[in-house]
Amino acid sequence: MVVELISVGTELLLGNIVNTNAAYLSQKCAKLGMTVYYEVTVGDNPDRLLDTIQTACKRSDIIILSGGLGPTQDDLTKETVAKSQNMALVEDSHTRKRIENYFKNSNYKVIPDNNWKQAQIIEGCKVLDNDNGTAPGMIVETKEGKRIILLPGPPEELKPMFEKKVFPYLNTIQPNVIFSKMVKVCGIGESMVETQIKDLIDAQTNPTIATYAKCGEVHMRVTASAPSVEEAKKLVKPIVKELKERFGQSIYTTDEEETLEDTVVKLLKKYDLTLATAESCTGGLFTGRIVNVPGASDVLKEGFITYSNKAKKKNLDVSKNTLKKYGAVSEQCAKEMAKGVAINTDSDVAIAITGVAGPDGGTEEKPVGLVYIGCFANEKVLVREYHFKGNRQKVRESSVVYAMDLLRRCILDNYK
Ligand code: ATP
Ligand code: MG
Repeated sequence: MVVELISVGTELLLGNIVNTNAAYLSQKCAKLGMTVYYEVTVGDNPDRLLDTIQTACKRSDIIILSGGLGPTQDDLTKETVAKSQNMALVEDSHTRKRIENYFKNSNYKVIPDNNWKQAQIIEGCKVLDNDNGTAPGMIVETKEGKRIILLPGPPEELKPMFEKKVFPYLNTIQPNVIFSKMVKVCGIGESMVETQIKDLIDAQTNPTIATYAKCGEVHMRVTASAPSVEEAKKLVKPIVKELKERFGQSIYTTDEEETLEDTVVKLLKKYDLTLATAESCTGGLFTGRIVNVPGASDVLKEGFITYSNKAKKKNLDVSKNTLKKYGAVSEQCAKEMAKGVAINTDSDVAIAITGVAGPDGGTEEKPVGLVYIGCFANEKVLVREYHFKGNRQKVRESSVVYAMDLLRRCILDNYK
């Protein structure tokens, strides 16, 4: 079944807002095993919108529109969809009641006149109640058997409506169910991952394997389609097992929602370890990601941003001699930073990051992207040297991910 997404809004074309709805809807359709072949963005213009809808009806089976369901003059999605199908707009008493109630429960005492426009629906459609606003969504089944789904633009209205009403609807028109499992690896590049699974990808039919590269990580989604969830799970299982055998400790989770920092915090808790951090070029980014995890306070003791040499000496006891002889970006300095912060804070494990983030400050000997990461665990320090590519932000982000991975591996190697 071919899906087409139409995002309506001149703001999108001007680049004033980012089209997060399209990304969200595409991901959801992939989960349903539905292929999005086209994604179109069109401004609030009745002629071009009509043209876009007509084209979509020719080439796609399911057309999902987002935006333009509001109460104002430039909101014309339902009017245009109705026109494209020669259908009328009629007032829906159920929606009218909901609008009345919505305003009763809000701070507005008077209902603006133009809000009644939102009680108008396309004749014969299935109404999708909006629990977070006044514009209802709609599902229109056309004479030609196409399905046109209209959703409000604000993501906080669109997402719950999709989740609660559209997802189950689309699921019922799918002959098969889709089940997928995510395998997340880090510390290896995407091309390396693809080489290692080339044979599996070449041979794939059902399940399929799709890889997504993120900064320092690769996610592999194994998806199967079958008449029941049980059968789909059975198809996915051996492939996930095979991936586990091939990637071993590089896999940090097979849980879709789990992030790398979630895994790290989980491991620290599991082995009852406390953590301290000493960051130079990442300036707190690493510690910030740890703090993102609820419950981080159980494991995180202290974090230092030691940007200057003076701070490295004062807070981490890095020796003057080390800084003079090897410099702040060096294996020796990373080692002393990690050890110093662990001892000074009486923590079980510690991470230290020092590097040249650029764009300035690089030399032939120490180029931009050179980063040393030290990990203190089990009374010893392991230091790794990295050469990251990209701009300042990218170098800093890569440092954080690789530091997270180094910590994860050190915990597993020393405490498992
Ligand atoms: P409203 O009742 O707010 O007018 P609407 O259904 O008419 O809702 P739009 O007017 O198109 O929707 O957009 C309203 C707001 O929703 C935009 O200003 C923007 O903040 C957000 N929005 C719309 N489309 C998108 C999109 N594709 N991605 C992310 N946000 C969006
Ligand atoms: Mg609007």
